[in-house]
Amino acid sequence: MGAEARPLGVRAGGARDVPGSWTNSRALRPQLPPLSFILLFLAAPSARAAGYETCPTVQPDMLNVHLVAHTHDDVGWLKTVDQYFYGINNNIQHAGVQYILDSVISSLLAEPTRRFIYVEMAFFSRWWNQQTNATQDVVRNLVRQGRLEFANGGWVMNDEAATHYGAIIDQMTLGLRFLEDTFGKNGRPRVAWHIDPFGHSREQASLFAQMGFDGFFFGRLDYQDKWEREKKLEMEQVWRASASLKPPAADLFTSVLPNMYNPPSNLCWDVLCADKPIVDDPRSPEYNAKGLVDYFLQLATAQGKFYRTNHTVMTMGSDFQYENANMWFKNLDKLIQLVNAQQANGSRVNVLYSTPACYLWELNKANVTWSVKQDDFFPYADGPHMFWTGFFSSRPALKRYERLSYNFLQVCNQLEALAGPAANVGPYGSGDSAPLNEAMAVLQHHDAVSGTSKQHVANDYARQLAAGWGPCEVLMSNALARLSGSKEEFAFCRNLNISLCPLSQTEKRFQVTIYNPLGRKVNWMVRLPVNKHVFLVKDPSGTVVPSDVVTMPSSDSQELLFSASVPALGFSIYSVTQVPGRSPKAHNTWPRLQKHFSRFKPSSRVLTIQNKYILARFDPYTGLLVEIKNLEQNLQLPVRQAFYWYNASTGNTLSTQASGAYIFRPNGQQPLLMSHWAQTRLVKTDLVQEVHQNFSAWCSQVVRLYPGQRHLELEWTVGPIPVGDGWGKEVISRFDTGLETEGYFFTDSNGREILKRRRNYRPTWKLNQTEPVAGNYYPVNSRIYITDGNVQLTVLTDRSQGGSSLRDGSIELMVHRRLLKDDARGVGEPLLEPESGLWVRGRHLVLLDKAQTAAVGHRLQAEKELLAPQVVLARGGGTPYFLDVAPRKQFSGLRRELPRNVHLLTLARWGPEMLLLRLEHQFAVGEDMSGNLSSPVTLDLRDMFSAFTITDLKETTLAANQLRASASRLQWTPKRGPILKPSPFWLDPARITLQPMEIRTFLATVQWENDD
Ligand SMILES: [Zn+2]
Repeated sequence: MGAEARPLGVRAGGARDVPGSWTNSRALRPQLPPLSFILLFLAAPSARAAGYETCPTVQPDMLNVHLVAHTHDDVGWLKTVDQYFYGINNNIQHAGVQYILDSVISSLLAEPTRRFIYVEMAFFSRWWNQQTNATQDVVRNLVRQGRLEFANGGWVMNDEAATHYGAIIDQMTLGLRFLEDTFGKNGRPRVAWHIDPFGHSREQASLFAQMGFDGFFFGRLDYQDKWEREKKLEMEQVWRASASLKPPAADLFTSVLPNMYNPPSNLCWDVLCADKPIVDDPRSPEYNAKGLVDYFLQLATAQGKFYRTNHTVMTMGSDFQYENANMWFKNLDKLIQLVNAQQANGSRVNVLYSTPACYLWELNKANVTWSVKQDDFFPYADGPHMFWTGFFSSRPALKRYERLSYNFLQVCNQLEALAGPAANVGPYGSGDSAPLNEAMAVLQHHDAVSGTSKQHVANDYARQLAAGWGPCEVLMSNALARLSGSKEEFAFCRNLNISLCPLSQTEKRFQVTIYNPLGRKVNWMVRLPVNKHVFLVKDPSGTVVPSDVVTMPSSDSQELLFSASVPALGFSIYSVTQVPGRSPKAHNTWPRLQKHFSRFKPSSRVLTIQNKYILARFDPYTGLLVEIKNLEQNLQLPVRQAFYWYNASTGNTLSTQASGAYIFRPNGQQPLLMSHWAQTRLVKTDLVQEVHQNFSAWCSQVVRLYPGQRHLELEWTVGPIPVGDGWGKEVISRFDTGLETEGYFFTDSNGREILKRRRNYRPTWKLNQTEPVAGNYYPVNSRIYITDGNVQLTVLTDRSQGGSSLRDGSIELMVHRRLLKDDARGVGEPLLEPESGLWVRGRHLVLLDKAQTAAVGHRLQAEKELLAPQVVLARGGGTPYFLDVAPRKQFSGLRRELPRNVHLLTLARWGPEMLLLRLEHQFAVGEDMSGNLSSPVTLDLRDMFSAFTITDLKETTLAANQLRASASRLQWTPKRGPILKPSPFWLDPARITLQPMEIRTFLATVQWENDD
C-alpha cells in the first residue's frame, strides 16, 4: 500500500487509551527516592472465557459442525494490493475486496445467526476508513455481538519461511493496534489464522503464544504428515514452540484444518464456484436437497473421525470469495436448516454458524489431554516431487531489499523516539515513519517476501518500500539536525551496494554521519565511492584516522575506506577532505594492486589473507578458498567453497512437476560446478585484505577480511543467469569440509531460535524421502551451521535463503534462481525476473569456532548484520539548529551500554508522549557454554536513556495490544510434563529481568530532554 492511500487511524501519533489500566501513573525519574516505587506482584489471572461470551450454543451429545464463513484475501499476489482492493484487472483474477466487505456486512445484517471472520487488516482498515459513521456504527455492533469476528488480525497473513521475527512482530503490532484502537477488546482476535502460508515455523508459533493467542489454525502441511496425523488423531496438538521459554509461555494449541481452507467438494456456493445451489422445492425438477443433506451427513461423520472431540470445523470460503455474500449465506442458511431438521429423525449431527474462536472454545471445554509437538512444519510438500522449498530463495533481490528496509525502518523508528516531536516536523518538512512501517508490513505477506507473486506485483512491492523510505529520510534529517544541533543538507545514498553515491563521488569535502542502532558501541568499516584522490579523514574529535582508497573488482571505480567508532544508539560524525594535488597512485603508501592469475607460476604464490583472528588460504592453482584458521582459538579447518548450479526440472516421467517460484525440483542430485577455477586478484592494504575471484561472466566473489574482524566475509555477485540454453538454473554456494556431522545440521527459525535438522528425516513421522535434494532444504533466515561437537562452521546470511547439508561436513545455500517454467501453483509465470532481479549481490559471513563458544560469535555478529549502522552524508557547514548551543559530533541515546546478551528489539514512537520499547534476551538456554551470556540478565530502565526520561511504564504482551497483567490465555492440558501455570511476574523498572530468549514489551510515557 502506498503512502498516498495510507489509512487514517494507525498513525503512531494518535492518542490511545490502554483499556483496563492497572497501575497508577508512577514517576520513574531517577531523582525520586527509591521508596516511591511500588513493587507490584502480579499473579496472572486464571483462565476465563474472555472473548467467548458471544459464541453460539452447541449440542453436547451430538457431532457439532462449525461452519466458518471466511474469505482469503492475499495482500498482493496475481494483482497488486490496490488492484485487489478496488477490483481492478479482473481479467487476471476476479477479486475486489471492497465489494466483499460491503456485501458481507449487508448479509450479516439480513440474518442474525450468520457469522463471518475477517483477517487482513491492510484491507479492512482501508475499507473502514472509507465508510460513513453510520456504517461504522453498524459494524461496531456486529463486532460486539460476535457476528463479525477478527481472526489473526495482522496487517497481513505473513509468510513463515522468509520472514524475520522482528518484522513479523512489527506487522502483527500494526494490525492488532488498528483493531484495538477501532473496536477495543471486542475486536481483539483470540486465534491466529495462517491458512495459506507454505509451511509453518516454530518461531511463528512461539510469537503467537507470546502475543496472547489462545490457539492457531493452519491449512498446509506435508501430505505424509497429514496422513499420519489423521490416523493418530493428532490433527490438534499443543505446540511447545520454544526450547528456552518456560512452558506454557510458548505453548500454542494448534489445529490443522481438515480441507486446507476450502469448502468440501460440491458445497462451494460462491459466485466464483460452479457447484449447484440447494434446491429445496420438491416440485422442482432440479430438487437436490435430500441428496445434499445425506452427502453432508456422511461427510461430517467421516471428517469427525480424524478429530478427538465431538466438534469439527468446515471452512466455507476461499480466495477472494463472498463478493456476492448472499449466494454463500443463502445456501448455508438452507443447509443448516435442512441438516438440523434431520435431528427429528434421529440424526446426531448439529451444524451451526461459528468462528474459529468459538470452535476453539468448545475444544478447550472438552477437557482432553493433548499430545505435544516440538519441531516445526518445514519443509512442506503436497506430493512426492512437490517440495515447496524453492520460495525460500525466490527473488533474492526483493528478499534483500526487504531485510535492508527492516534495518532502515528500525533506524527511522529509533531516531523518531530519540528526537521526539522534532523528528516529525522540522527544517526538512514532515517526517513520517508510518509509510515504511506499512510497506514493511505488506512485504511480510506470504506472496510478497516469499517471492511468489507475479512480476508486476513484485515490482509494486518494491515500489511501496521505496515510497516508504522517502518520509523516513525526512524524519531522519529532522532528527539528526535536532540531535547534532546542525542543519545540514543530508544525503542518503541508496545505492552504496553498487558503489554509487553522487555526493561522495563529486565533493572535495563532506561529512559522514554514522548512526548505530545497537545498544552497544560498534566499530564499522565505512566504504564510500570516491573519485581518484587521496583523502584525509577525521573523527569527531578532529583526530586524523587511517583511511585507504581501493579499486573495485571488475571496474575502475574507487572506494574510500575508514573505520568508524560509533557509540550505542547514537552517532559519530566524521569529516572527509580531499588532499589537493595527490592521487592514490602517486602516493606510495596507498595500496598497490597485485594481480594474480592462477595459471601463472602458481607454486611461487601463497594466496592467503589474514588478520589477528582469521586466516583464509586459497588454492593457488584453482583460486578457490581451501582453508580457514581461527588463530585466536587455534582452530584449522580445510574448507572448500565453490559455486554450483542445479538444472531445474521441467517435469519428467515420474512427475510433470517443474521447478518454479514455489517448488524446488532439480533435474538431478548432483549440481554442476560453475567453474573449476577462479581468476583471482589480491588486494592488501592496512584496512582491508581481499581476494577477488572471478568464476564466470555471471559469477564472481570477493573474500574479505577487515582488521579486528572475527569472521570471513564472502561477497558474491551472481547474474544475470543465462537461460538461452533452455535450462533453468538454481545457483548455490557450497562449503565442503571434513567435519563428521552424522547427517545433522542446524538452521535458525525466523532469525531467532535454532532447530536441529537431520538429513532424510522428520522428527514426528517416518519419512519416505522422494526428493533427496529439495526434500532436505530448509529456510535459512539468518544462519546455518554444522558441527562435529568440537568445531562449528557457521554461515550467516544477509537475507532469507534456502539451505541444506546434503553430505556430512557440507553446507549449501541457494543464492539465486532463474526458471523457464511455471510450477502450476497459480502464479502462471516462470520465475524469469526481467530487469531488476537479474543481477544479485549478497554476503555470507563465515565463522569457525569451538562448538562450546560458537553462539557468542554468531549471535552477536547476526545482530550487527541485521541492524547495521546507517550512513548519512552531507556537504558540511550547515547552520546551527539552536542559537546558543554548539553542534555535537557524537551522541549516544543510552547512558550505559546494554549487556551483550540484550538486544534492543524495538524503540519507536507510539503516541504523543509514548514510546514502544522491546528488550530481548538474544541467547538461548545453554547456548553460551563457557561464559554467562545464557544467564538471566537484569536491567535498570529508570535512567537508561539519555534523550528522554521515562515517567510511566506499562508492560504489555508481545504485540502491545493487551496489558500483560490483565492478559490471560486458555490453558490446555499437554500429555507430556506437568501442567504449568503462567509464571507470575514483577514490574519493577529498576529491575527488569530477561530470561534466555525472553522478549519483554513496554509502553513508556516519556518526557524528552530540552523540550521547549
Ligand atoms: Zn494466500
